[in-house]
Amino acid sequence: MKFYLLSVILLFTIITGCSPSEPAKAEWALALHGGAGTISKEMPDSLKEAYYDGLREALRVGEIILREGGSALDAVEQVVRRLEDNPLFNAGKGAVFTLEGTHELDAAIMDGSTLAAGAVTGLTTVKNPVSLVRMIMEESPHIFFSGAGAETFADMTGVERVENSYFFTENRYRQWQRTQTGEATLLNDQENSIAGPLFTEGEKFGTVGAVALDKNGNLAAATSTGGMTNKQFGRVGDVPIIGSGTYANSLVAVSATGWGEQIMRNVSAATIANYMEFRNTSLENAMRFVLNERLNPGDAGFVAVDREGNISMQMNTAGMYRGAVNSLGERSVMIWEEE
Ligand code: ASP
Repeated sequence: MKFYLLSVILLFTIITGCSPSEPAKAEWALALHGGAGTISKEMPDSLKEAYYDGLREALRVGEIILREGGSALDAVEQVVRRLEDNPLFNAGKGAVFTLEGTHELDAAIMDGSTLAAGAVTGLTTVKNPVSLVRMIMEESPHIFFSGAGAETFADMTGVERVENSYFFTENRYRQWQRTQTGEATLLNDQENSIAGPLFTEGEKFGTVGAVALDKNGNLAAATSTGGMTNKQFGRVGDVPIIGSGTYANSLVAVSATGWGEQIMRNVSAATIANYMEFRNTSLENAMRFVLNERLNPGDAGFVAVDREGNISMQMNTAGMYRGAVNSLGERSVMIWEEE
């Protein structure tokens, strides 16, 4: 009997690669976000469903890639593309308005296995910025292009181009108008800033991002955004700053959303990775440290996955559009803390 039991345990260990007492490890894992902020629970059910559908659809895109053995990089690029095409989110179609009433897009991607990265700021005519940053990462000797230079790089690629007006949505336009007429609530004291109020409480976030672990053990992160409503001339947020809004190494992949200036000040994504490594602690702890000890309540949210397939999605805002799926069949989409 004893021998029989031992043989079963041995067989289990050989087949699954872990002992029966250890929880099973995910072979691949994916998490995404569609922005964090003061998201009202009073939102109409139809809109809530539209958000959940958008998150689920994007998850499915990444899930198929990862399940079939595709790379974490392909998964995060395709997931973010899907979210960029969805007008509900502040990236690609549906991006917020700048002070001048235009759209300027920021994005970044990072390959955790090589530390290769691509980033862009102030894009105005590229339909899917996440695909351009992938090209920057793979086809240029540089990491980060801005404004006119980024458009010139885009001219040299086959990336799909659009008029700036393509990014227009009625909702974002009304949001921007409220900031112009002073109806908007200020997040902080911007009264005396040179160009007036910068953003409004409850309407400030909406960036999209994805992180993934693939079957080969590689990690990747990608983030894309229109930035913050009413942002001033040439403002660069955290998203394309490698280590602030986007980061991946061999240990963990992180994508941020929230108040960019705060995320940058704390080099948040890289701090999560470094805290994990230097303190030899869990992803969950590292993220809690940055959210509670470095950032202020209401500032930000993160999604991340580590090389063991552990997913963490936490925020110190009232809500964050987010979702996750892994090879163990665990799957979720959520907006608020308790659902
Ligand atoms: N972090 C973005 C930025 O500051 C905004 C967001 O997450 O919605 O540009």
